Amino acid sequence: MDAATAHGRLGAEARAFIARRHKLLIGGQWVDARSGKTFPVHDPANGQQIATVAEGGAEDIDAAVRAARKAFEDGPWPRMKPTERGKLVWKLAEVIERHAEELAQLESLDNGKPISDARAVDVPFSAELLRYMAGWCTKITGQQIPLSAPGEWHAYSIREPVGVVGQIIPWNFPFMMAAWKIAPALAAGCTIVLKPAEQTPLTAIRLGELIEEAGFPPGVVNVVTGDGTPGAALAAHPDVDKVAFTGSTEVGKLIVKAAAGNLKKVSLELGGKSPAVVFPDADLSVAIPGAATGIFFNMGQCCTAGSRLFVHERIFDKMMSGLADEAGKWRIGHGLEPETRIGPLVSQEQFDKVSGYLAAGKQAGAEVVTGGERHGNEGYFIKPTVLARTTPEMSVVKEEIFGPVVCAMPFNDDDLERIAREANNTAYGLAASIWTRDIGIAHKMARRIKAGSVWINVHNFNDVALPFGGYKQSGWGREMGYEAIELYTETKAVAAML
Ligand code: NAP
Ligand code: MG
Repeated sequence: MDAATAHGRLGAEARAFIARRHKLLIGGQWVDARSGKTFPVHDPANGQQIATVAEGGAEDIDAAVRAARKAFEDGPWPRMKPTERGKLVWKLAEVIERHAEELAQLESLDNGKPISDARAVDVPFSAELLRYMAGWCTKITGQQIPLSAPGEWHAYSIREPVGVVGQIIPWNFPFMMAAWKIAPALAAGCTIVLKPAEQTPLTAIRLGELIEEAGFPPGVVNVVTGDGTPGAALAAHPDVDKVAFTGSTEVGKLIVKAAAGNLKKVSLELGGKSPAVVFPDADLSVAIPGAATGIFFNMGQCCTAGSRLFVHERIFDKMMSGLADEAGKWRIGHGLEPETRIGPLVSQEQFDKVSGYLAAGKQAGAEVVTGGERHGNEGYFIKPTVLARTTPEMSVVKEEIFGPVVCAMPFNDDDLERIAREANNTAYGLAASIWTRDIGIAHKMARRIKAGSVWINVHNFNDVALPFGGYKQSGWGREMGYEAIELYTETKAVAAML
């Protein structure tokens, strides 16, 4: 299907949205960037411009932080009864569901991802997370604490919202990342300045409109679109109490440095090079499609992508031919085509990066089992790729590719310590999967893996109640579950001498 036909699949709401002039949401007003600058947004399936968006700068961040500060110090939001705050967060989930199809279309168009994924994952998971976090509003409690000091005491702890939070998000799940970030912060009673990725600003802007539709007080959520400049200004801003970031490990380190100025709290969800370890007893009818989904879902643009595949040598060849067959089933096309399972990568930059890794892998002697090249001659499509005969020194094995490229390596060992050492041989520690029918091996391996999420007989699995985050250079802190509430609250200890 060509681009015009694909765009023909957009509904009236999505069309009306992209045709609008997109501004910044600051203190409940939609305003142009102070500089008057704008930037284009492209369809990654063909590089065509689809929208124009305000390009925020440091002065817009400053205005947004002031609005968020005012909403935090003087506005109703942090003082609202927990049930009332919870109702609003829940209502936002309902508003999102009301506009689910439009949001899925915009997400697919902007990011390139298959509409079927946007419909099944990005949008519903976001609504579900908001509902889950809405439930925490009434359950954020401290403790009464017995003291050992002489005399009589009444001591307790209180959990208070951390304050104004800056949230900087990437382009791989633009809407869902926005929801992941705002949901716990809202539940805790914080106010927010959200900075979406420059490649994919559309659904964050639409989210800003839906937040207004749900009836949030002005300034509780501010949205400033733009490139890295407003992101850096937000991370460095002296009146921001916390910054939460999802993106590359490289920028994560810059955020830490920028945050040092006022020692704002920092949480980071960064890159990964997650192992999938397939034992010889694994059910291959599960492991083959599972490992494929682990790396090909979202074109491999997942921080948790199962990009290093360790397979017992007894089943290695079966696994490789199975994966090649499986890769052939993943239909490549425009994200808006309902049958598409592989859309384009998000940008020329990402396409060049992944192409560079493919060339480096081949040069270093990796065997291309399937894929290994672009698809078509326009847009940023890369075929789902399996590389075998890869070794730990190769850049394709060491570095995060963030594309649909898996590096497969055989092992011929029964020693779980040694297998785990190989799986853990990375600077990252975000996720891992273990494929076996032996529950003993599964849980023993789960303990030996150094990663924030370990999945057994599944990969890329998330649930709103499961804490999510990284060991090592994959980040600081845990999102989702109650841990996410902890990220957005301060603990105050009160001790009264009676
Ligand atoms: P990135 O630079 O880390 O971008 C993430 C977010 O940070 C974007 O909103 C970005 O804005 C913003 N940003 C950029 N420079 C900043 C700075 N100095 N201070 C504060 N914020 C800043 O990621 P990318 O360049 O788009 O992608 C590069 C690589 O990062 C990918 O190839 C992949 O390996 C990894 N990545 C990981 C994740 C993940 O989920 N962990 C997500 C995306 C990418 P702009 O978009 O405007 O630059
Ligand atoms: Mg960047």
